[in-house]
Amino acid sequence: MDKSLGRLRRLPETECLFPKTLGEALSLLKKHNGAARAIAGGTDLLPKMKRREIAPNYLIDLKGIEGLHFLKYDKEKGLRIGAATTLNEILESSVVRKRYPILKEAVSRMASAQIRNMGTIAGNLCNAVPSADSAPPLIALGAKLKLVGPKKARTVLVEDFFKGPDKTVLGPAELVAEIQIPPARSGEFGTYLKHTLRREMDLAVVGVAAYLCLDSKKNLCKDVKIVLGAVAPVPMRAKKGEEALKGKPINGDLIESAAKMASEEAKPIDDIRSSAEFRREMVRVLTKRAIQQSLERGKGV
Ligand SMILES: Cc1cc2nc3c(=O)[nH]c(=O)nc-3n(C[C@H](O)[C@H](O)[C@H](O)COP(=O)(O)OP(=O)(O)OC[C@H]3O[C@@H](n4cnc5c(N)ncnc54)[C@H](O)[C@@H]3O)c2cc1C
Repeated sequence: MDKSLGRLRRLPETECLFPKTLGEALSLLKKHNGAARAIAGGTDLLPKMKRREIAPNYLIDLKGIEGLHFLKYDKEKGLRIGAATTLNEILESSVVRKRYPILKEAVSRMASAQIRNMGTIAGNLCNAVPSADSAPPLIALGAKLKLVGPKKARTVLVEDFFKGPDKTVLGPAELVAEIQIPPARSGEFGTYLKHTLRREMDLAVVGVAAYLCLDSKKNLCKDVKIVLGAVAPVPMRAKKGEEALKGKPINGDLIESAAKMASEEAKPIDDIRSSAEFRREMVRVLTKRAIQQSLERGKGV
């Protein structure tokens, strides 16, 4: 065996710290200023450490913090998901299945059951890769993140959270405490579709979330969000595609032109998984399908 590979595969030496409260975790982050990293499921962080992309001296475990482990729904306020809640817990939630099927769809296509038993949505967002599957549905749902740190807690829209690949608006001593999703309203129907090279356990070549707000006859599109993943440095709204549909009775031609506009707005790159040209075409195909499926969902109610 190649000895250098064996060495690289081991985790670099690091000390794990196990705070019991969010306050304790924040104090540890501040104390070890820049030398510590939060860890939730570790499904992104540990492989990065093995590859020596990062080597924090301290890992601050968030999974043992009871106050970050919850999933609560309120008709007025909507859904709150604590940052230590696992992807499988989200998937198993009857509230998510019933009221936020678009989120269920995205989480069910992420990784494998084993990885979902460890991984979290907060970790998926903080890792900030353009293909993060939880981002398009959360943006489509108008979700916010509660950020806590040395200063006053603040909330930011998931849409405004990303600054680039691997970059977010989080400060060095800040944590995501919870994800907040507005109440599901009647007349709203969404779909998340993802194209991968392999059937299972694969990152999105393209991901598309479409979210329609329909009138009572399920014909007029009162509002819409089209959110694209893996085709720009950050998950992005296809606003021209949205404008093509907003306020209009939906028909096949309109869906076709909205999907075409979305594909023109995407900013894909060539990489080992796909050419930019193929990604752009997949945006058109998946946007069309996601809008059609959302419409069918609405008509089926
Ligand atoms: C085999 C495999 C398949 C995968 N397939 C998919 C897939 O299909 N789709 C997909 O989107 N992802 C996929 N992933 C990536 C991964 O599983 C997810 O991104 C996961 O949700 C990350 O969550 P985590 O809790 O494990 O994060 P961690 O690895 O613990 O953390 C990730 C990053 O977020 C930071 N962080 C974590 N929690 C917080 C917090 N509360 N506040 C501030 N910073 C925080 C950490 O410091 C770290 O920088 C896959 C991974 C593997 C290994």
